[in-house]
Amino acid sequence: MVKKYVYLFNEGNASMRNLLGGKGANLAEMTNLGIPVPTGFTVTTEACNKYYEDGKIISDEVINQIHESLAKLEDTSGKKFGSDENPLLVSVRSGARASMPGMMDTILNLGLNDKVVETMAKLTNNPRFAYDSYRRFIQMFSDVVMDIEKRLFENKIDELKEKKGVEFDTDLTAEDLKVLVSEFKEIYKKEKGEDFPQDPKVQLIESVTAVFRSWDNPRAIVYRRLNDIPGEWGTAVNVQQMVFGNKGDTSGTGVVFSRNPATGEKLIYGEYLMNAQGEDVVAGIRTPLPISKLKEQDPKIYQQFEGIVNTLENHYRDMQDMEITIEEGKLYFLQTRNGKRTAQAALKIAVDLVEEGMLTKEEAILKVEPKQLDTLLHPAFYTEDLKKAEPIAKGLPASPGAACGKIAFTAEEAKDRAALDEDVVLVRLETSPEDIEGMIAAKGILTVRGGMTSHAAVVARGMGTCCVAGCGTIKVDEVKRTIEVGGKVYTDKDYISIDGTSGNVYGEKIKTVTPEISGHFATFMGWADEIRKLKVRTNADTPKDAQQAAEFGAEGVGLCRTEHMFFAEDRIMAVRQMITSKDEEQRRRALDKILPMQRADFIGIYEALEGKPVTIRLLDPPLHEFLPNNNEDIKSLAKEMGLSFEELKLTVENLHEFNPMMGHRGCRLAVSYPEIAEMQARAIIEAAIEVKTTKGFDVVPEIMIPLVGEIKELKYVKDVIKDTVESVMEEKNVKLDYKIGTMIEIPRAALTADKIAKEAEFFSFGTNDLTQMTFGFSRDDASKFLSDYYDKKIYEQDPFAKLDQTGVGELVKIAVEKGRATRPGIKLGICGEHGGDPSSVEFCHNIGLDYVSCSPFRVPLARLAAAQAQVKNKR
Ligand code: PEP
Ligand code: MG
Repeated sequence: MVKKYVYLFNEGNASMRNLLGGKGANLAEMTNLGIPVPTGFTVTTEACNKYYEDGKIISDEVINQIHESLAKLEDTSGKKFGSDENPLLVSVRSGARASMPGMMDTILNLGLNDKVVETMAKLTNNPRFAYDSYRRFIQMFSDVVMDIEKRLFENKIDELKEKKGVEFDTDLTAEDLKVLVSEFKEIYKKEKGEDFPQDPKVQLIESVTAVFRSWDNPRAIVYRRLNDIPGEWGTAVNVQQMVFGNKGDTSGTGVVFSRNPATGEKLIYGEYLMNAQGEDVVAGIRTPLPISKLKEQDPKIYQQFEGIVNTLENHYRDMQDMEITIEEGKLYFLQTRNGKRTAQAALKIAVDLVEEGMLTKEEAILKVEPKQLDTLLHPAFYTEDLKKAEPIAKGLPASPGAACGKIAFTAEEAKDRAALDEDVVLVRLETSPEDIEGMIAAKGILTVRGGMTSHAAVVARGMGTCCVAGCGTIKVDEVKRTIEVGGKVYTDKDYISIDGTSGNVYGEKIKTVTPEISGHFATFMGWADEIRKLKVRTNADTPKDAQQAAEFGAEGVGLCRTEHMFFAEDRIMAVRQMITSKDEEQRRRALDKILPMQRADFIGIYEALEGKPVTIRLLDPPLHEFLPNNNEDIKSLAKEMGLSFEELKLTVENLHEFNPMMGHRGCRLAVSYPEIAEMQARAIIEAAIEVKTTKGFDVVPEIMIPLVGEIKELKYVKDVIKDTVESVMEEKNVKLDYKIGTMIEIPRAALTADKIAKEAEFFSFGTNDLTQMTFGFSRDDASKFLSDYYDKKIYEQDPFAKLDQTGVGELVKIAVEKGRATRPGIKLGICGEHGGDPSSVEFCHNIGLDYVSCSPFRVPLARLAAAQAQVKNKR
């Protein structure tokens, strides 16, 4: 049987979205509903994939089917390609399964040539219209199909307008436009070395091929990566008979929404322009009118229009974004789709549609993109100001939100200037643990190096501070205290603005606003919580973060990284003392100083969570993060420890590791120095006893051992913890429930999870390290070369941001199965960065984890993603 690559609009329907693309499926559906849609056909996404499989060649089979459908279109419309009586003109548009602004948009008026333009002029009795359409077509075809620079054509128009002394394109006469047409054809010939194609069939096949090609242009690839759209989907192409909005005063064109896309208000919203073609509305040359005006101008058409808008909204049970054209008093719908909307509007519409009885709560839950919620929780740029601003650089969107301030070059400076009420953005080559206070004080953080899981990115996300990381085009001169971008130099007196959602950096001041959270947000999240099965915890290292997360709905702490508590100025000295200690006695002295601090923090965290479970992880620092890294620091530490500078410097040098991420960290520290685990276990239990006796919260501390790869290693550290816990409980004469478990973040641990589960009461998947070790990609450096992998389509996504389900996910699945086989009730969670990524959350739901844990500002997102996973895949 021959495969069908082309479908007439009346042969398709809404369920064929994967094959026909969103636009094609909706055109088919509208046609079936009897809505006035100009006729046409869709070339399928499979034809696009075939084009790539065949080595970027459009096959004869596909071409023939296009020609067959064209013949049918000619039959039904009574028009013919290239006819000198009744010529057929078409538009060609791309249309992927998900709408994709990165791709080729539209070619209008295809079918015009030197002969047809004359016929059109006669038929419409409007030579100006005919020649204007022709020059637009040559321009679009040259630009989007043939890649000839737009500017060449625009210059010609400007020259002509200047010569004629007129201001607007609309002031040019038919004769002027004729001149332009021949000049445009000359440009085409000069650039392509051949004449502008006169055969409409050639024009058509070239255009279809251009749409296929545009699936793989750099903009489209970037858009796909940002929006989780797989490259294998391909795009469809829609070929539709032209209707004209620029045929005079009874014609027009418009873009409308069935509800307000900014606020969600239930009112038809949009703009239109009489005597114009689609691009005029967008181009902003003439100011369009609000659609409500059409009601006054032409009540009859408006009534029909309103009826169809309502039909479409009821049919799709969602807010619709539609394009209409009126041709000589007859209304057409050119396309409809579920409209893009702001987060506020998305929530209002979802709640309204349930209240209007159009959707169930389960269906409504799917109407809001989890990632969109981010914009409700973080400051954003004031839209009007942002429109006027041009980015000077782009880095990785490491932590969402917007920030604006003067440049601070060191953490200390950021802290001091912020204390004087100055807004600052901290700009660093990269951040290190010592920068923590400056990072807290800054409005935003910009780094030159580092990826999505670099120190700056992880810490900023945890704090909910906006961060752009790895912005390599910025040159920071820490000595001169300047940054240079694109030849311009900025100092500490200059403002910069950074957008942690897009990664854009602006060399100017842009006002920020904190969006209001409306009542719909709470209603909507309440529904998500009713529906979901997967629990959501948070990664929090301080009482403040834990408190924030609890307000966002966290149901416990899934990861408390105890080493992050050590970065504060008054603590780092004691920690450095601990790691550079020569013997156990010295180390115990340092640990004694740390114990009360840790206990106090744990008390704060337990209290913030009011008795909900808290997983506290034993120390897991790659040592280099803590070592004093300059002579100044070594000197003061030596003084504190009563050592000579030389002696301590030698120790520090000896502690240097070539590969700190795979070095003396995690449980390996506790194997070498069990007294560290003892101190931490004591602080964890003493704090829990304190909170139980003073506040009455029955905390069940979960003590987590990191970086385990071998059961005996786990057993050794577990025994140290157990002994300590038992003796603390005996000392205090209080009994507590507690659990001891492990992170699964080393491939060997995943592969031997059946054995590990004999000792571990819970597993928490540390997918940051598990990804690092499975790919062999350094968490801190991979962003430098991953872009080459995206360009070459070896990988489509950053595996540190979106869980690699094929490889890393397989290890997780193995560990889940093996862990449960040994210990059926074992508690399973994830605490790597993936716990806050929607598609990774869905994966965790599907494989039956008990909870995901993510940074506080991602908690609402994870709650929604978990509910969506349950709706899509009940468990
Ligand atoms: C992990 O490795 O996924 C993890 C949560 O631990 P960390 O990021 O602290 O190494
Ligand atoms: Mg880890």
